[in-house]
Amino acid sequence: MNANQDNFKKIISHAKEYGFIFQSSEIYDGLSAVYDYAQNGVELKNNIKKYWWASMVQMNDNIVGLDSSILMHPTTWKASGHVDAFNDPLIDNKDSKLRYRADVLIEDYIAKIESKINKEIQKAKKRFGDKFDENQFKKTNPRVLENQKKIDNTISEMKKCFDNDDLVSLKKLIDDLGIVDPVSGTKNWTDIKQFNLMFSTSIGASSESSSEIFLRPETAQGIFVNFLNVQKSSRKKIPFGIAQIGKAFRNEIIARQFIFRMREFEQMEMQFFVKPGTQSEWYEKWKEIRMKWHKALALGDENYRFHDHDKLAHYADAACDIEFNFPFGFKELEGIHSRTDFDLAQHEEYSGKKLRYFDPEINESYVPYVVETSIGLDRMFLAVLASSFNEEQLKDNSSRVVLKIPGFLAPYKLAILPLVKKDGLPAYAKKIYDDLKIHFNITYDEKDAVGRRYRRQDAIGTPVCLTVDHDTINDDSVTLRFRDSMEQIRVKVIDVKNEIDSRINISNWLS
Ligand code: ATP
Repeated sequence: MNANQDNFKKIISHAKEYGFIFQSSEIYDGLSAVYDYAQNGVELKNNIKKYWWASMVQMNDNIVGLDSSILMHPTTWKASGHVDAFNDPLIDNKDSKLRYRADVLIEDYIAKIESKINKEIQKAKKRFGDKFDENQFKKTNPRVLENQKKIDNTISEMKKCFDNDDLVSLKKLIDDLGIVDPVSGTKNWTDIKQFNLMFSTSIGASSESSSEIFLRPETAQGIFVNFLNVQKSSRKKIPFGIAQIGKAFRNEIIARQFIFRMREFEQMEMQFFVKPGTQSEWYEKWKEIRMKWHKALALGDENYRFHDHDKLAHYADAACDIEFNFPFGFKELEGIHSRTDFDLAQHEEYSGKKLRYFDPEINESYVPYVVETSIGLDRMFLAVLASSFNEEQLKDNSSRVVLKIPGFLAPYKLAILPLVKKDGLPAYAKKIYDDLKIHFNITYDEKDAVGRRYRRQDAIGTPVCLTVDHDTINDDSVTLRFRDSMEQIRVKVIDVKNEIDSRINISNWLS
């Protein structure tokens, strides 16, 4: 097991031990790729939602919210193309009996070559020091050039297969590249088959009168079918956006990466409606805005990169992902897609209802174009959890596990700890708790030595601990101890609220 896998395992067990994430229906041995958010997880998740919602809806006069239903008229999914085209190409290894996505196998192959290139670059950087010119090196080093050519050829071959819906050639590509099953190590592959990812169920009382419907595989369609209702009732002018947070369901083939790929997950999507012809400009703008939003969290700028799509979805004229450096490498965290007028035009056709905007500036009606930003809430949760997980060796030779979660996202902002469970300290501490709970989500803990209580709060990411001691009774001062620096300061009880607020107020991040 490499260090990253080992670290990932630790993060998963930490998430369970400290009440962030449990496997769904664990007492029945769990349900694969379905998870429950526990007492601390639900707080962190809600705080991420708040950050996204505030930055979209609260901070933008031209974006409004929506909460559309999970179940929709079945024609929605015919119109959107999901019934016919929301497929993954799946391939089985006959030895391990494991199932894979053919495109993911090829992408992993590409990622391996990319990491070879990066190793060459790091080696050269060390050798040449300050004089090193990375661009020049990439353009001239024969090994880098050869590997880059392999990547380019593979991408172009894969794209050709997808454009032509040619699964036979896709299989041949996997054979030609010599891709082996990471588990069995063999090349004993089956043919590739398409597999539709939508879950279906039926609506209606009796089997004769019921009809098949789908659990939505994305929240976006709820926005599209409501486009005109929202536009008219909010009287927004184009360009404007509709934002929504909600559950989506996909019967994923591979589900082996904890909450990265789930069968039931949550999306935070915003569809931005623009005048046809202006979509590229808005696409670039939203790429920039979204990257800034991520980097404002200070989880490490080097952990993000853009990745342009090699194969465009049937509805897009441009698309990229913001990838995050998860414990298993750079993978998609958010998608930004220029969806053209595809969805609205399709819904016009299938419903027979006009979904047009009358533009008073040019005195004309048109079907707007759409730029979408779509981020998985659970993947965002994993990005925050994984990058804030730290094991530290301390000066006194002890160690601690600390989640350095950005303060405003932390489940609890403050923990109130009476030094001992007697001498009136708990009563004083509880009074502080009662006074502050209206302002922040805080917790109270009086069990065990104070050092152990600090460690427990570190492990769930509480940014500040407040200790009430014997002096507090006389001078109304308390000790504040900060999670990341472990520094301690003495403040008056009356100043605690402002002190905490200045450190964890969401406005610090939004601005
Ligand atoms: P992938 O290529 O990883 O399957 P995708 O390109 O199909 O993802 P989109 O359809 O663009 O994903 O969905 C938008 C966002 O929803 C993704 O960026 C991701 O964060 C999230 N998402 C998609 N599928 C899942 C899933 N199965 N579990 C958790 N989050 C998901």
